[in-house]
Amino acid sequence: MEINNSILTSAKKILREYNLCAECFGRQFALLGTGLSNTERAHSIFNILLLEYSKIMNESQGSESDFAQNLDIIRKIATNTDYEPANLVMQKYNESWENSSEFTCYLCNNLFIELDILVHKIDVIAKGYEFSNYLVGTSANPKILDREDEFRARLEIDSGESLKRNINRETGKKLEVLWNKSVEFDNPELIIQIQLNRDKQTVQVSTNPLCVKGRYRKYLRGIPQTHWPHKNCRGKGCEECKFTGKQYSTSVEELINPLFLQYSKAEKSVFHGAGREDIDARCIGTGRPFIIELKEPKVRSFDLQQIQKELLKNNGDKVEVFDLEFVPRSEIKKLKTSGETTSKTYEALVASEKKLSKRDFRKQQDSIKEIVLAKPLQQRTPLRVVHRRADLTRKRSIFDIEFKWINNFHFRAKIKAMGGTYIKEFISGDQGRTKPSLAELFGVPLKCEELDIVDVGKL
Ligand SMILES: [Zn+2]
Ligand SMILES: [Zn+2]
Repeated sequence: MEINNSILTSAKKILREYNLCAECFGRQFALLGTGLSNTERAHSIFNILLLEYSKIMNESQGSESDFAQNLDIIRKIATNTDYEPANLVMQKYNESWENSSEFTCYLCNNLFIELDILVHKIDVIAKGYEFSNYLVGTSANPKILDREDEFRARLEIDSGESLKRNINRETGKKLEVLWNKSVEFDNPELIIQIQLNRDKQTVQVSTNPLCVKGRYRKYLRGIPQTHWPHKNCRGKGCEECKFTGKQYSTSVEELINPLFLQYSKAEKSVFHGAGREDIDARCIGTGRPFIIELKEPKVRSFDLQQIQKELLKNNGDKVEVFDLEFVPRSEIKKLKTSGETTSKTYEALVASEKKLSKRDFRKQQDSIKEIVLAKPLQQRTPLRVVHRRADLTRKRSIFDIEFKWINNFHFRAKIKAMGGTYIKEFISGDQGRTKPSLAELFGVPLKCEELDIVDVGKL
């Protein structure tokens, strides 16, 4: 760092008119030269001033009052920053001098001198959290920032660093040593927020969400994937829902989440599924991918196998999870947009309103397969969901279909289709809204009686 006359002029002015700690003093010149801490920067400037003043005083140049003024500045350096070379100069000219170090920094109110107190406060709060990296942020009462702005305007200082940045860095450095963990800017696990007031600082910590990815199988028909608020009371609770606020007694989400909340000590959880099956459909076979996003977790590493086992023990007849792993949060977006690029395989139990002869069924099935595989379905938003989704016609593909005769009124169909295909409507035709449909092709009214999803996979 090159220290020129204008820096020295500003430095002298600060020392004459204000009381600053070394960190606040050095911060005013932070943009000049890198690789030094603000305190080290202050010391570099003090060294030059001490040399200059000592020389003048030794050579007894100037008047008595000059001498007193110079000694005053050295005393200030000694008192405000306890810089040892300044203490030595003071002792040389005044044997009885003792550094009382009692002063209040005009800019930080001694925050930097007492930074260990703040660091201890953070350490105590952070003890409740598991984390491997962190980030410190500071917000300050505007009066504190205004004070420094006015100070700089008055002294025409334009080489200073912001107070908040200074606090973040110095606190971060101390925590790094204390915890032996590093600062992470992009995706910190623990976020420490310092609120700066003139007389005290408060500390708040929060944590970034933790995400666990896995697949689930749903064995119980009649439960939705996620919690559904009761229609009548919108979840507030009423007589009809026995004040549970729920439309359905439980859901995949409600069965799975509690264990994750318990293990992670998170405040809440959000369930993200790669699409969802109908409430009356099971999801079996290879299961459906999902991510549980745990908000404000206190614990970030726990035994996922254990969760899998416990869930199997408690609710294994209703739902099962497997392939659990911790994933970055960015996976949620991928999961959400994966619908169009995945295929799904279903097994449907199909009921016919009219008698189907085994002979006709056998004869028709191959040509029907050919027709549905040959070109995309035109599928208009089903009547049962059109009240909540845009009424559009979408192209959907059937990749494979196999039929199995049961009796004159029932058969099974195993259907591999593009994600987002409405299978029930592909079977029934939905009053002509899905074309072609199995009902249309078999020439009899058909209804999907049971639906299982047996595979959610890649195309
Ligand atoms: Zn200060
Ligand atoms: Zn209700």
